[in-house]
Amino acid sequence: MFFSKSSFGAAFLSLLSLHGAGVTAHRWFNWQFDITCDATAFFVPDNETDLIDFVKAQHTSKTLLKPVGNGHGFGNLTTCVSDEATDRDSYILSLTNLKHLEVFDNHTVVFGGGWDLIDLIPDLQEHGLQVANLGSEMVQNYVGAATTGTHGTGKQHQNLSNKMIGLRLLDATGKIHVITEEATPELLKAFRIGLGVLGIVVEVTLQAEPLTFLKRTTKIVEVPEDSTEMYKEIARIGQKYEQINIIGPNLKWNYTTQQLDPQTQLSLVYCEETDYKGAKNCSNYAIATPPSGILYRGFMGQFEHFFPMENLAEAGKDYFNYAQSQADRMKPYHTVDPVEDGMKGYVSDDVTVITRFVKGDDNWLSPVNKQNLPVNSSGIFATLEYSWIPSYNNYTLQWFYQDLVNEFIPTFGEKHNVRPHWNKMLFNKETYASTIYPKINSWLDIQEKMDPDCQFVNNFLVESLGIDRCKSLF
Ligand SMILES: Cc1cc2nc3c(=O)[nH]c(=O)nc-3n(C[C@H](O)[C@H](O)[C@H](O)COP(=O)(O)OP(=O)(O)OC[C@H]3O[C@@H](n4cnc5c(N)ncnc54)[C@H](O)[C@@H]3O)c2cc1C
Repeated sequence: MFFSKSSFGAAFLSLLSLHGAGVTAHRWFNWQFDITCDATAFFVPDNETDLIDFVKAQHTSKTLLKPVGNGHGFGNLTTCVSDEATDRDSYILSLTNLKHLEVFDNHTVVFGGGWDLIDLIPDLQEHGLQVANLGSEMVQNYVGAATTGTHGTGKQHQNLSNKMIGLRLLDATGKIHVITEEATPELLKAFRIGLGVLGIVVEVTLQAEPLTFLKRTTKIVEVPEDSTEMYKEIARIGQKYEQINIIGPNLKWNYTTQQLDPQTQLSLVYCEETDYKGAKNCSNYAIATPPSGILYRGFMGQFEHFFPMENLAEAGKDYFNYAQSQADRMKPYHTVDPVEDGMKGYVSDDVTVITRFVKGDDNWLSPVNKQNLPVNSSGIFATLEYSWIPSYNNYTLQWFYQDLVNEFIPTFGEKHNVRPHWNKMLFNKETYASTIYPKINSWLDIQEKMDPDCQFVNNFLVESLGIDRCKSLF
């Protein structure tokens, strides 16, 4: 099963940390509290030396080590192996204290693994610099975001990992490795999407760029209800703008017909260069992470799938039709009309869809890697982000949404050359990973060198990447 459902009730009772005589425990939660695990403890090193000493000491007993950023994902990348599941201890590691930062004349910036985007971006701006692309939020830790391929939108904009030109990492034995674009360019392509299992990133060298300013425009347009015509139009809109988020078409539950009605108004949010300096960039400063113990209203099931932009009209239509055809399965969960139940201010569309664009790259496990594209392909990817949003935070419904999300790759994956976002409800197994990531076996060889005793893995990573040598751990 995808998340640790059975242990959730007990989790809340034990709350975050217990430290007492002979008792050490730490319960880890992701941002929306639907992914959780019991670690032996949470370790926050004071500095790099402290971390190295800790990792060296833990290597002899093969302790499980899970480096985390801010848990701002929908998937199991940060799920620790439960303390009781093996005979090993299991630690969550946060590098939040590694906060050094140095800016150089060539716009490179060297900084520690503790920087979150919300702090890093204003700091770079004070130096007249920016990163080339950002996602829709800045809640993430830089390493957590970049090493999972976090992206924004733009046909000439790549994901964050591409601007990491150097990495300083710690392997599971406590040895430091330095990987750079200059000295080891091919290796860097392997390490950029490291997913926490190619070592602990203690320092990044970022190729920043001079600060530019963008104007954001939001425009409402109407598209045809017929899904074939609708997605032809969406593909045409995508061709027209360089940097665009296409929000919609959404699906709204109709309490009278018990069906999902297409919402055919789209919001086009696009960014263009400007010399006006009042707006900082096209990203939100929103903080989506709730305070501990508070269930955030954004509780949802979400995936994001990337595929060659040339497939947008067909893939978009197929996904939308499939989502709409699930109404019968959703009926049992729609017994109370939230408007009549006094929830008016909280109601959103039941299924929301966002389309974005990302320029492809050569990073081995990047969801927009160009390694298996047809010869005449543009090398640009479209992404479809689907969110199923309950009116009330309801775990039964959340598990149902996860099962539903699970069906899209088996149904459409091979047809449209789809690659899932690494940190958004990804369910594919190793056989599918090997078709979309042609270099995965070489990547697994590196993984074994960096982590010979399976200390960085969890069940999800073992299964989705095919780390067979670690299977006996579970
Ligand atoms: C509301 C919301 C909006 C989002 N919007 C976008 C978007 O617009 N675009 C997009 O592409 N994604 C988006 N995401 C996904 C998000 O960017 C990724 O899930 C990202 O990985 C989260 O960063 P984090 O710092 O919380 O990392 P975590 O989830 O904590 O960790 C992610 C991975 O990084 C590894 N890691 C963290 N630190 C280190 C380290 N020092 N060394 C080695 N490995 C490490 C972890 O082990 C894990 O494998 C969104 C997610 C949410 C919840």
